[in-house]
Amino acid sequence: MKKTFTAFNLAEQQIAQLDMQLLKRRLRMTEKPCDTTALVNNRELKAFCSNDYLGLANHPELVMALGEGANKYGVGSGSSHLISGHSIAHELLEKKLASFQNIHIPDARALFFSTGYLANLTAITGLARLAKQGEASIYSASLNHASIIDGVRLASAQTKATVILFDHQNLDSLIESLKKDSNSLKLIVLDGVFSMDGDLAPIKELADIAEKYDALLLIDDAHGFGVLGEHGHGILEMFNIYSKRIIYIGTLGKAAGVSGAFICGPSILIEWLIQKGRPYIYSTATPPAIAHTLLKSLQLIEGDEGVRRRRQLNQLIEIWHEEMNFSKWKKVVSSTPIQPVILGSNANALAAAKLLDDAGYWIPAIRPPTVPLGSARLRITFSANHSAEDLRALIKTLKTIEHQLESEPQL
Ligand SMILES: *Cc1c(COP(=O)(O)O)cnc(C)c1O
Repeated sequence: MKKTFTAFNLAEQQIAQLDMQLLKRRLRMTEKPCDTTALVNNRELKAFCSNDYLGLANHPELVMALGEGANKYGVGSGSSHLISGHSIAHELLEKKLASFQNIHIPDARALFFSTGYLANLTAITGLARLAKQGEASIYSASLNHASIIDGVRLASAQTKATVILFDHQNLDSLIESLKKDSNSLKLIVLDGVFSMDGDLAPIKELADIAEKYDALLLIDDAHGFGVLGEHGHGILEMFNIYSKRIIYIGTLGKAAGVSGAFICGPSILIEWLIQKGRPYIYSTATPPAIAHTLLKSLQLIEGDEGVRRRRQLNQLIEIWHEEMNFSKWKKVVSSTPIQPVILGSNANALAAAKLLDDAGYWIPAIRPPTVPLGSARLRITFSANHSAEDLRALIKTLKTIEHQLESEPQL
């Protein structure tokens, strides 16, 4: 008898099951640079789904800077930062990133990473390791991004830290738990802008709570950096926060239009992460040309061009709130370029995404486990390269599709 290979069988069964639950994900390939239109299977689609909020991903000055960086620094970094991969381009970028936050975090220092995922793993596991085994508590918001969740799980496995989940919209339970907490290290961690809802963390209250209960506050501002605050410095600038207890994480592949991320915090904690942050220590440094490109991106973000682009985003958000009304679908209130529309079932969300695709729009359905069960949605995002007319055309299409779906019996 022919022996079957168990792993293949298991994979086949489980993928079939995902398909049945309408949870199978599919890759789609784009054939053009990231912008407000995409070319997919030779069809041009209007894209309202990227995180390129400022529309910088294909900015001519950044394209030029990448070439310039490659000429100047070559292509690869050759090794991790602590061996020989730490280039002057990385150093300049880190100085500039720290200068964005140092009126909010005293004695700020920044550390550059290849991705936000890695930055979260490093910060959470590294900070938890400040305490002895079993003497750290990690308070994590229930709707946190997967990379935070994984960082918390890894930290808990490595250090036996206690993990407590909290609701970021109601901090009572967080306060109650902190009151009773006698652990030597307390770390509160959450998204600055919640990635699937677009709402903001109550950061002022959290900074006060961190002060009162001797905790650290780690803010992952992946969707706020570049977008929030007068100069695009992010959520700390927006709310004018000043605290020595904050560790700020920003990503550079979203509004900054390139790739990478950074941790910014009091220099003593950053020094500790350089010593003990395993994902930082054991990973090859990002190409210096990327760091060089990012320096240019930061200039654009801070300067007039950034101001103009943020103004455009705010105009789009205003139009959306004034002109988009659904009869049955639920609009989530958000003051950021993330504007989710909740449809509930996976089937509904997939049907809407399909009709949008037929109408020439690229807005994928977001399903569990990315969002809680029963809250499948369209996650609509704006870019500063969208015009008011682009948005009004989308609004009209969405109204038609809602009507169409509601008047037909569902699967
Ligand atoms: C995208 C995202 C990350 C991961 O950043 P990458 O640079 O894409 O790895 C982390 N946190 C949040 C909240 C995100 O949305």
